[in-house]
Amino acid sequence: MSAGLSRCAVPVSIHCDHLIQAVTGAEADLEKSIVSNKEVFDFLESAARKYGIEFWRPGSGIIHQIVLENYAAPGMLMLGTDSHTPNAGGLGLLAIGVGGADAVDAMTGTPWELKAPQVVGIHLTGKLDGWATPKDLILHIAGKLTVRGGTGRILEYFGPGVSGQSCTGLATIANMGAEVGATTSTFPYTERMRAYLNKTGRAPVARAADEAASRGFLSADEGAEYDEVIEINLSELEPTINGPFTPDLATPLSKFGSFVKENGWKDELSAGLIGSCTNSSYEDMTSVADLARQAKAAGLTTKVPFLCTPGSEQIRATMERDKVTAALEDVGAVVLANACGPCIGQWKRDDKKDEENAILTSFNRNFKSRNDGNRLTMNFLASPTVVTAMSFAGKLSFNPATDSITLPSGKPFKFSPPTGQDLPAAGFAPGDTSYYPQPAPEPQPKTEVIISKDSQRLEVLEPFSSPFGEGSGNPRGLELPSLKVLMRVRGKCTTDHISAAGPWLKYKGHLTNISENLLITAVNDEGGDVNVAFDHDHDSSQPHTDTIPGVAKRLKARNQPWALIVDDNYGEGSAREHAALQPRFYGCAMIVARSFARIHETNLKKQGVLPVWFADKADYSRIGAGDTLETIGLADLLNGNPSATIKIKVTKRDGEIFEIPTTHTMSSDQVNWLRAGSALNYIRSQMA
Ligand code: SF4
Repeated sequence: MSAGLSRCAVPVSIHCDHLIQAVTGAEADLEKSIVSNKEVFDFLESAARKYGIEFWRPGSGIIHQIVLENYAAPGMLMLGTDSHTPNAGGLGLLAIGVGGADAVDAMTGTPWELKAPQVVGIHLTGKLDGWATPKDLILHIAGKLTVRGGTGRILEYFGPGVSGQSCTGLATIANMGAEVGATTSTFPYTERMRAYLNKTGRAPVARAADEAASRGFLSADEGAEYDEVIEINLSELEPTINGPFTPDLATPLSKFGSFVKENGWKDELSAGLIGSCTNSSYEDMTSVADLARQAKAAGLTTKVPFLCTPGSEQIRATMERDKVTAALEDVGAVVLANACGPCIGQWKRDDKKDEENAILTSFNRNFKSRNDGNRLTMNFLASPTVVTAMSFAGKLSFNPATDSITLPSGKPFKFSPPTGQDLPAAGFAPGDTSYYPQPAPEPQPKTEVIISKDSQRLEVLEPFSSPFGEGSGNPRGLELPSLKVLMRVRGKCTTDHISAAGPWLKYKGHLTNISENLLITAVNDEGGDVNVAFDHDHDSSQPHTDTIPGVAKRLKARNQPWALIVDDNYGEGSAREHAALQPRFYGCAMIVARSFARIHETNLKKQGVLPVWFADKADYSRIGAGDTLETIGLADLLNGNPSATIKIKVTKRDGEIFEIPTTHTMSSDQVNWLRAGSALNYIRSQMA
């Protein structure tokens, strides 16, 4: 819309999965969510129609599962505006999670660029056995690499251990590559990818992949070199549980009971959740159904609430046809809508408000408050089969591989290792075919894009103005105007901290309203409080202390552009574009970080915020709220010198002045975005 084009330059699809509640069950939740989010869905559907985009309406499934089933093909390059886009890598392609503004590049035919990533080779030998699954492999890797270990790197798996994994198992591994910050993950084309393509109705794609593979494509070159090689023997891998609060805290299942004890946590599980885009394949669901049937035969039902989110209508319908759903419901499972639901904070849970409790999920993320809005809920990530078995025991110390559950009769019951089928023998059932959009629809230019004028959830995005040039009021020419430091953010600051999800998601289309959540869970390093900022220039009508968005709004009202000082890996986690849009909306012009997460750093550049890195990380502590920052050298960069360096002149509140060196990753195109005020401004100027 903003670029003024009549159609997208590449095939595009829209998916409605994040806004669906998880309260009582699929049908009622979906119905309510469609009513309560109608204006958003109407907007998306009308925009899709106008611009010739395939529209997957609410209830059709989670984007990544639908993409794997319908769009992903070996060898292609795909961008998606969600950090788990790499899930599609399970079919041997490069699928990369980007911010919405990067997607605009692709949709407008503008060259999309990425700093050339390193490639880490992960050499798999051996065979997964017993309770170990592909999820355990990636949980183990997350523990090894940590949430930063994949930054600026592609994970390329190779070796004899790859071919033993199902296509959807590989997708699970690729999906959670996002948790180590990897640009994406990929695999060589395998027999089981071919089988998956054939079963999902894409025989021509399988034939094309076979042909490409026969000519030496779709696998690593002979003698390929990697920046690093990690060796993993799958035969030695045991189930792993990661968390709480970070996906890289990995504990082998056999040690998990003592880990819980050492931390003084209650040995009590409060809920088990399976599904999500990470683990809702047919293989996952038939494996958990196997456990459910074993438990039912022993007279057991789950001890705790047990929720299941199928990844797509196709998975849901196939589960129902093959009696997987019945097996789960027989032991007490509640099957939720085909959507993200509890994975993205749509879980309405009244029984554990503000109470410390532990849940096990087969999801991929476990930041505080992510699932139920309760900061005290400890979300441990595990394979769907471990989640299921432990939901019957109700205890965190239970190890299904070695322990038994005592039945009412006093007899012990022990699960046999689960078995599932990776593909349904009778093929996938399509389910409700009205969910499937018309392929490659023609744009209908006369369609009106529906945005109500008094909407609280949608507003047309107004272009950000450039801080440079005539009319900007900036006396410093091509240097940024003098900036006030809003605050120094301490420690982990994910995009969830910058722009919280949960109840705020409904404002994603309304920048003014959603900006009220800016950094509300971030910790101020000066004082250590959450959502507290200091306004050193306040007048007598205003208190010195306010919330972070409160002080940001005051600076905006004073036309005072500002900067943030942040810690390591700032902006890790979800690709959430709002985490860049919101600070910019309130007047943020620069963020100085010990380090940035890749997607977020690009998102900032796209919105016209300058991200710079401390050359000396110790300088972080030397700058605080109310200090004034001035760039030195930015003009040189904007004038076309790509190797220009930027220094920052710091004027402390007490008058002390010093300069610090910084580094940056701005490419020549990105410099154009900064100069224009945003990438969208620049693209529009190029279209004119
Ligand atoms: Fe949805 Fe969760 Fe997957 Fe994100 S990680 S796409 S919220 S299921």
